Amino acid sequence: MSNHSNLVNKFILSIILLLSIACQHDKPAETKATSVKTDSVIAKSSPYTLDMVVNQKDLACYMPLKEGIGDTVHYHGKVYGFCSKECKKEFLTRPSYYVKD
Ligand SMILES: [Zn+2]
Repeated sequence: MSNHSNLVNKFILSIILLLSIACQHDKPAETKATSVKTDSVIAKSSPYTLDMVVNQKDLACYMPLKEGIGDTVHYHGKVYGFCSKECKKEFLTRPSYYVKD
C-alpha cells in the first residue's frame, strides 16, 4: 500500500516537473506577466485609454472596452477602440455595417 502511493506520488511529481519545464520553455516572458493580476497592469499594457475612443464597447464582439483596448481604428474622423486585432480586422471588413453615421 505504501509502496503504491509512493509510486503515485513520484508519478505526479514528475508530471508537475515536466509541466513546469514545458511552461518555462514555451513562454518565459509571459509567466512573469500572468503572475501579476491587477487592473492597472492591463491598463498599462494598452497604450489606449477609454477617453481616446468614441465607443465604450467593442463594435465587433460587444466586449466592454474598460478591460483594455488592443487596437484602434480611425474611421470618418472618429477613433474606435477594439479589444484585439481580430476585432479590428472584422470591423474593417465592413465598417459601414458597424458604424451608422
Ligand atoms: Zn473584441
